[in-house]
Amino acid sequence: MPRASLISCCTRLHAPTTRLSLFRRSHHNKLTPSSTRCFGHNDCRHQMEQLDLSANTVIDHPRALTDKLTLIRDAGPSKFQVIADFDGTLTRYRVNGVRGQSSHGILQQGNADYDAKREALYEHYHPLEFSPLIPLEEKTKLMEEWWSKTHDLLIEGGLTFDAIKQSVSSSAIAFRDGVVELFEFLEEKEIPVLIFSAGLADVIEEVLRQKLHRTFKNVKIVSNRMVFDDDGRLVSFKGKLIHVLNKNEHALDMAAPLHDQLGVDNGGEGEENAYVKQRTNVLLLGDHMGDLRMSDGLNYESRISIGFLNDNVEKSLESYRKAFDIVYLNDAPMWGALEIASQLFPTEAS
Ligand SMILES: [Mg+2]
Repeated sequence: MPRASLISCCTRLHAPTTRLSLFRRSHHNKLTPSSTRCFGHNDCRHQMEQLDLSANTVIDHPRALTDKLTLIRDAGPSKFQVIADFDGTLTRYRVNGVRGQSSHGILQQGNADYDAKREALYEHYHPLEFSPLIPLEEKTKLMEEWWSKTHDLLIEGGLTFDAIKQSVSSSAIAFRDGVVELFEFLEEKEIPVLIFSAGLADVIEEVLRQKLHRTFKNVKIVSNRMVFDDDGRLVSFKGKLIHVLNKNEHALDMAAPLHDQLGVDNGGEGEENAYVKQRTNVLLLGDHMGDLRMSDGLNYESRISIGFLNDNVEKSLESYRKAFDIVYLNDAPMWGALEIASQLFPTEAS
């Protein structure tokens, strides 16, 4: 199905609010004039998904969202970027009915003792990460401890790049439907996507390669990056440790280009950082309240935030709906973000 038709189908079906629908209709007309053939909802493979998406969308302040859309659209694509979390945001929370894996969680280092040691760390620290009783400062120290110990185990246990490839190929990790289409759309518009993650950059890049079957020159990973020796064995980690509670503090300064792995030369890191910092309008995608801080390093003008509330909906919805402009519930697909991007910078029908 041509992209314009796909977007128009999804656009009509996904109508969470009246005000947003009005905005959408004017752009829908622009996107697909009556002469453009729509393949029809019976043929739209995303129809049911989109109906579900409407039911799983919460927008507390549609008017404010419409205003932001107008500001960002008027400033144009050259001022715009997308900042996304990886685990549970670009990837699904559940895969085939069970909890999907994280970029840290999939790693089997080919040494059962060390895999068990890392698992034991997870069992110990993971509940602490979500404990409401631990003050932030103390929790930050605990997270540093957890990440450091995990990285040390990966080095001591002799992780190889081949083990990463094998771990990814046998993993239960899957992207949300619509991620490829979103990246493609943004690539066509030359809009950068920064993926911020407290996971492992080398693993995430391998997941992109294996699960999306293609690479995107506009997508960059800011995460913990490994250094391998000539035999492909992990010897150290580059740069500052990025854990779940500090990933946003220095993320923009660490926005390293992917050219090492993907053959894309975007110039030096300094130029790259200046480039992303000039893009002061942001679409932020996250699944954690802390992900809202991913834009902290940027003196942004307008920001639209999308929160994926994957679990504990009843308990967390109140805070998510206040914090994010749009909340998608129940492990929703990525079509809503694609719709926002296509409303902002529509592709004219030829
Ligand atoms: Mg996440």
